[in-house]
Amino acid sequence: SISELLHLLSEKHQLSLSAYEKILQERTEEDEELARSLAKECTEKHYGNGVYTRGLIELTNYCKNNCYYCGIQRENAEVERYRLFKEEILSCCEEGYRLGFRTFVMQGGEDPYFTDERIVDIVTAIREAYPDCAITLSIGEKSRESYEKYYKAGVNRYLLRHETADEEHYQYLHPKELSWKRRMRCLQDLKEIGFQVGCGFMVGSPHQTVKTLAKDLYFIQEFQPDMCGIGPFIPQHATRFAKEKAGSLRETLFLLALLRLIKPNLLLPATTALGTIDEHGRELGILSGANVLMPNLSPTEVRKKYLLYDNKICTGDESAQCRADLEKKMKAIGAELLVDRGDAKKEKESE
Ligand code: SAM
Repeated sequence: SISELLHLLSEKHQLSLSAYEKILQERTEEDEELARSLAKECTEKHYGNGVYTRGLIELTNYCKNNCYYCGIQRENAEVERYRLFKEEILSCCEEGYRLGFRTFVMQGGEDPYFTDERIVDIVTAIREAYPDCAITLSIGEKSRESYEKYYKAGVNRYLLRHETADEEHYQYLHPKELSWKRRMRCLQDLKEIGFQVGCGFMVGSPHQTVKTLAKDLYFIQEFQPDMCGIGPFIPQHATRFAKEKAGSLRETLFLLALLRLIKPNLLLPATTALGTIDEHGRELGILSGANVLMPNLSPTEVRKKYLLYDNKICTGDESAQCRADLEKKMKAIGAELLVDRGDAKKEKESE
């Protein structure tokens, strides 16, 4: 039965591809509840009630790519483009550090302005100013040589969602010039270089099926990333997927739980997209196995311009407000925001 498979997953942390398919196809609401409570227990065993935070700095909304789902795709003429300069980024970090962030995540479109030299220059400055902080980059596909330069400059982590572990599905979501094989190569390169690597996917993206999702879970079991970012797909009005349905809260929570059971020490964020489809999405995410939050540290003026999807939350509040609100919400569910770099904990043996 599905509940037996879920118990097996929580003990062995691995299943076959067809078992994942079966779980995704046949689970009932009760099974979902079981998965979420097993996941919560597993998170508590590894991380207690602490939740790690990362300060997210949205570096640039210029992008040379045209991912069909993404609001900042190069063909979206509605977007008012911006990029942050070194001094602005450093002042985001300064404020973030004061607020208790010990990881800075610089994320952005694939913007050719940010050459390796510029990225290394920015990273070197942050590394010098904040030796006790982790630096995460999420700026897309680069050559192995570029990744090596970033690593040498002091970047610790790299987030690059695989988006889907099914090549055909990948091609449905992206124009021909983007290749699934190259994305997989990038993830492999990042891992070999020594980064803590994050992959991930959208829940409910157009043409996603039980089969493609099962492949995502199996991929994560095999690849063993340090982090995994998942959130619901949310349509953006100016993209070709404008009329598609958004991913659901329930399915996202169930997948968070399964990911926790696949890798007990995984760093698993309750994402902004999850908080966007439901007012309590992030709290429910934490209650289903997530253990990371990534509040926005970008300057307030640019937040309204980094719109990957419609109705994105946290586009107006200042950073202090964002953090204080989350702190309150977490307290209400018995969780605690930590002032910590938030590296993955060592895996504990199952009793
Ligand atoms: N350019 C970098 C990259 O591709 O890795 C980082 C920025 S990219 C905008 C970050 C993530 O946003 C993507 O990996 C994608 O999964 C997510 N995203 C984009 N459009 C979205 C949408 N409409 N709904 C939900 N998530 C979306």
